[in-house]
Amino acid sequence: MEQEHFALGGFPRAQGEAPSRGSIPLRTRRTEVGREVSQRDPAATVRPVVSATPAQLASVAVGRPVRGEFTYLVPEALAGNLAPGQRVLVPFGRGMALGFYLGPANAPVEGGVRLKPIQRVLEDSPSLPKDLIALLRFTAEHYRYPLGEVIRGALPPGLSTAVDEKEARPDIQFFVEALVTEVPPALARAPAQAAVLQYLLAVGGRAPLDEVTHAIPGARETLKKLATRKFVKWVEVTLQPGVREGLVQNRPDRLTPEQALAVKELQGAVDVGGFQPYLLHGVTGSGKTEVYLRAVEHTLARGLGSLVLVPEIALTPQLVGRFRSRFGGDVAVLHSGLKDRERLFHWQALRKGTVKIAVGVRSAVFAPVEHLGLIVVDEEHDPSFKQDEKLRYQARDLAVVRGKQASAVVVLGSATPSLETLQNTRSGRYKLIELKNRVDDRPMPTINLVDLRVERPREGQVTEEAPILSPQMLQAMEETVTKGQQVILFLNRRGHSTILLCEVCGLSLKCHDCDVCMTHHRSQNRVVCHYCGVAFPVPNACRECTGPLLKLGIGTERVEAEVLERMPHARVARLDRDSATSAEKLTELLASFARREIDVLVGTQMVAKGHDFPGVTLVCVVMADTSLAIPDFRAAERTFHLLTQVAGRAGRGKDPGRVLVQTYNPDAEPVRRMLAHDFDGFSKQELEWRKALAYPPFARMAAVRLEGEHPEQTAGVARFLGNLVGRHMPPASAGVRLLGPALAPIARIRGKTRWQLLLKAPTHAALAPLLARLEAALADVPNGVKVVIDVDPGAML
Ligand code: ADP
Ligand code: ZN
Repeated sequence: MEQEHFALGGFPRAQGEAPSRGSIPLRTRRTEVGREVSQRDPAATVRPVVSATPAQLASVAVGRPVRGEFTYLVPEALAGNLAPGQRVLVPFGRGMALGFYLGPANAPVEGGVRLKPIQRVLEDSPSLPKDLIALLRFTAEHYRYPLGEVIRGALPPGLSTAVDEKEARPDIQFFVEALVTEVPPALARAPAQAAVLQYLLAVGGRAPLDEVTHAIPGARETLKKLATRKFVKWVEVTLQPGVREGLVQNRPDRLTPEQALAVKELQGAVDVGGFQPYLLHGVTGSGKTEVYLRAVEHTLARGLGSLVLVPEIALTPQLVGRFRSRFGGDVAVLHSGLKDRERLFHWQALRKGTVKIAVGVRSAVFAPVEHLGLIVVDEEHDPSFKQDEKLRYQARDLAVVRGKQASAVVVLGSATPSLETLQNTRSGRYKLIELKNRVDDRPMPTINLVDLRVERPREGQVTEEAPILSPQMLQAMEETVTKGQQVILFLNRRGHSTILLCEVCGLSLKCHDCDVCMTHHRSQNRVVCHYCGVAFPVPNACRECTGPLLKLGIGTERVEAEVLERMPHARVARLDRDSATSAEKLTELLASFARREIDVLVGTQMVAKGHDFPGVTLVCVVMADTSLAIPDFRAAERTFHLLTQVAGRAGRGKDPGRVLVQTYNPDAEPVRRMLAHDFDGFSKQELEWRKALAYPPFARMAAVRLEGEHPEQTAGVARFLGNLVGRHMPPASAGVRLLGPALAPIARIRGKTRWQLLLKAPTHAALAPLLARLEAALADVPNGVKVVIDVDPGAML
């Protein structure tokens, strides 16, 4: 019905605030999944009037897509027995719902509101630690997401459903332990066994069976074979904190002077207690991880908990391995591939305080670490800390909020800190610790430029055959491989050619459903849309005029082909989402490169992550320009980070490293500064620009993103929301600005039209009332249009 209303081009009059009815939030909210709760059915209404004293009222978050907290009566039998964080069963709508008791509620402002009682308490001791309630409340409020859903998302699956199950805890876990310290030559012809053993060695020689089989599917069978050959053994472990026998210790005897200072500062802060945020700015290879490890060690020794957030565990098994080998059973590793049972087990172990260290990806920011003393966010600049679906939170930002609430020390570490964090350091909110030198006084790599405008790989027309690698680059690669050292070749685009262009009419081949060019994947002999995944055979002529198609724009597949052709003797492999299709393949590729079975590794940003391969002495950036032109105010920053990070993979062992950068834009700021290892210069310049244009970190932003089946209807809703914001704009002095509504930079994906509104303001507080209005209005948006509010957006596409 609503839909027809909108389809006709008419839009509802502006809605004021949703009707306020005492303390019972009746506001509706359409969620992303499109479920909806009507104005009339939520919770807590229509029952005989009961007069209640405040002490008998409970504030409950309901595990449904509805905003706000709900007020319920506390039945006499439960009075005095409720503890904040307990899971409860409450009447909701026409049925029952899982709820979370948050604390006592005030009496409704309006008299005569009829309340329903809490039906049942599902557990004796609360699943949700009291400390976490404040963080979850902040999250729901800041990112405009229903509190009950936020809580359910934070809890492990066994606890986020209304099942009244008795704790079934697998206290006993199977571990596998390596009986050798390196892969024996006997396994040369058994690559699967070698890969599993290599993984085990990489993570410290011992790991839970479930973790290995997650990383390497099918590992169970392989491990049996390894056990028969006495290369590994099974260990049944009753998980007991403090038990660390059998672990491979790799604790360096001495810290570098800079590391020692950093560790002393952090340990001192943990001793003092209280909230203290730090930026640990250490160049690549300066030994930041060892600083984290020592700080965590110290925190543990004081009986306090630590939380360590890392970007992607699958890509950096080394880092997890270092924590595991240092802390054994005292560390819970939380990654996205955990089984429900394991997630529940870790949750309860942390909750009870028997395990005091959690290492995990962004969602671990909600891990129930008790008596939190220290929070570490490694590679804090990494975009993966921002979740870009459903609850769109920034885990690094929440880590700081949590640190403040828990009075903990917070360390944000990076070689290329985000400008947000840097600005917080400049303004004095965070303290700065710097590691300016690499471990063992290893030099930073030398960086040289190849100007592609001058040094064309070969003169001639632009065709599929035109070479990509300049003579300098090829020569450097040749030299490196001859010396038995390794090369990383970086290009941030996968596929073979990224544009197929008609030579006659100039039209490029685009996806039917998306506003993007199709990428040619030669190995599959198909063209693929990287946004919706649709693929079809390579057309041999232009769709419009049947003219011949030129293959332009290079991807990693083509670079790999060229290396294979020009260096036939070299062992070449490719690391991108096409080659690393499973966790198993990814682990195998990384392990094989670490074993030096690969001379040249071609890859996307997956090769730029925090890998520590001592054999790599040459890093080649095939084209520095690819991420410069993206319509995003962070394009320059992202480019600088990527280039600096990938360059940082060179020269981490005893041999010095060098970097060669091919570019058509040698004067572009990120390229120029990266060449000079000039992080300070780059960020100073970039911060000035951001300030002049009022972008973060000098402003807070929110994006309202629309996606709809019908172009006109979607445009109509965008205009409607734009008008709504316009009408409620605070005075100009508040500095709030609306950009748009406008078509999104990628105006169509999967056949849906995309629009966006961007809001900027000096503070989040200035944005919040507008966001609340927008959110209230979403109930009136027709079903055909999906609208999400993205607070502190990451990527702008
Ligand atoms: P970053 O994270 O800063 O890039 P890492 O923590 O990976 O650097 O350290 C780089 C390398 O130096 C690693 O192989 C690490 O084991 C080693 N390392 C770190 N600290 C020391 C130390 N004090 N003595 C010897 N080696 C160290
Ligand atoms: Zn598509």
